[in-house]
Amino acid sequence: MEPVTFEVAAGLTAIDTFYGGRERYTAAYLLAADEPAIVETGPTTSAEHVVAGLDRLGIGPSDLAHIVVTHIHLDHAGGVGRLARVFPRATIWVHERGAPHLHDPTKLVASATRLYGETQMASLFGPVEPVPAERIRPLAEGDQVVLGGRTLDVLDTPGHASHHVALADSVTGSVFTGDALGIHVPDVPVLRPATPPPDFDVELAVRSIERIRARARSGIVLFSHFGPVTDVDRICDLAVRRTRGWAEVVRVALQRTDDLDEIVTLLEEEARRDAETGAEAQIDLAHFEMLSSVRMNAMGIVRYWKKRAEREAAEDSGRQPES
Ligand SMILES: [Zn+2]
Repeated sequence: MEPVTFEVAAGLTAIDTFYGGRERYTAAYLLAADEPAIVETGPTTSAEHVVAGLDRLGIGPSDLAHIVVTHIHLDHAGGVGRLARVFPRATIWVHERGAPHLHDPTKLVASATRLYGETQMASLFGPVEPVPAERIRPLAEGDQVVLGGRTLDVLDTPGHASHHVALADSVTGSVFTGDALGIHVPDVPVLRPATPPPDFDVELAVRSIERIRARARSGIVLFSHFGPVTDVDRICDLAVRRTRGWAEVVRVALQRTDDLDEIVTLLEEEARRDAETGAEAQIDLAHFEMLSSVRMNAMGIVRYWKKRAEREAAEDSGRQPES
């Protein structure tokens, strides 16, 4: 497959990773700088496309200086180990909570295998190669990745995952959003929340969306799935509304059922309502299933409400006056 690359802002170029063999579905980004960097790698199955895209953009094996990932989910960072071998001079930057799992992916692979099964693991992601610990730099709120001519400011943005950062580019004001705003693929007027287990948290997710909104007002947001969106306020409003909307459907359902299939059915109805809002054409919702399946989202939201209820119960019992 020919590499597909396109400039999204000054010095920022998207590279199609062809995740799952699909075009315009998942992206990595090259940042032009004294020390060239990419944000996101895609899974190992995408490595050849990323390498070919970088080659077309003039970045060879000894040129890439930094690999930065928004979080360690395999569709974003599964290919880091492979690319670290191809680009031996690159430093790897990742949220401090994700760093140990890039060095030793055993647990990461085990939990992904529980969710996806062996067959999909192999076909979608491929093997996950470890990254030598000495090449990994942990990221936390307020850190900067200095590239020479531009920097990336780190925003700790939990909600979708506890190990999630957004990255603000100093030159263009653009913000790499990872999965913090959800999934927004071109030509489909739908924003789907991304609320997977085990970390998803509604309140943290909304707070992270608002932080990204405040930061990106003068620029654009760059989705990993997929590409640039310029009307930042509209997309952030939509992200908050969808996240809260899906969470509310599950909260209400949990008052009468624990049955996951039933909850999935209710969320599928919600997804169809989302699609009808403002959409003129029939939309193939199957388009989203590989990136953000309704079942996965349902599992994440159920887990969130249960953890929250347990936490509140514990706080209540802690507050009981002694008698
Ligand atoms: Zn993710």
